[in-house]
Amino acid sequence: MSDIGERLKIVKDKIAESCRRADRNPSEVKLVVVTKSATIEQIRKAVSLGCRDLGENRVQRLRKVSAEIDEYIRSSKEKSGDSGDVKWHMIGHLQRNKIRKVLPIASLIHSVDTLRLAESLNTTAGKVGMKPRVLLQINASREPQKYGIPVAAGVHLAEQMQLMENIELVGLMTMAPLTKNKDRVKAAFARTRELFEEMKGEKVVGPEFRELSMGMSSDYQLAVEQGATILRIGSAIFSG
Ligand SMILES: *Cc1c(COP(=O)(O)O)cnc(C)c1O
Repeated sequence: MSDIGERLKIVKDKIAESCRRADRNPSEVKLVVVTKSATIEQIRKAVSLGCRDLGENRVQRLRKVSAEIDEYIRSSKEKSGDSGDVKWHMIGHLQRNKIRKVLPIASLIHSVDTLRLAESLNTTAGKVGMKPRVLLQINASREPQKYGIPVAAGVHLAEQMQLMENIELVGLMTMAPLTKNKDRVKAAFARTRELFEEMKGEKVVGPEFRELSMGMSSDYQLAVEQGATILRIGSAIFSG
């Protein structure tokens, strides 16, 4: 097995182990393979090993890499008949002037964190006749992070997004603080999870609101234990 295959297996085994510990079904947890620091060769390998959800954090690279991987899938389909389609996730900060470019590619946008961005997405999506699925990015770490809306403002923004006709709010996303302190990481995930439950409980959001995107290479096991439904993992797969 290639190194990527081995590392992927280790990651999946650890996810399964965390699911067992948390009494969760592994089918509830989706792995998004983050390809931002991988070569095209490595990404192809991951696809050939069955990875179907891939994530990038910059629009320009997302466009380039998704085009190359689509081409690869087309040619390998012709050869073998396997390979379902890949779904691309836009996981990084989105500038409003890049919205038009990201809409045709991303199956899920993880990083909506301002009213202005939500409104622009709604307007542009309406113009091009699309209805993108989006997550609201929460800053749950109580430290000055660049992106994400503070927990206290989350419900209000979700209410506003819920009224927008051309976007579908399907959950929350968060990034843990950059620290080795597991308690602080866990607390940030737990706060996001509480907000998620609160929004559902108070019917701020609809039944399609099901996703909790949290957990990266350094903290995905904690994220699974705290209820994540989507993990975004890159370096643990591509660089060990
Ligand atoms: C890079 C990135 C990840 C993956 O990080 P790794 O530590 O490589 O697993 C996850 N989410 C976002 C938003 C990222 O930018």
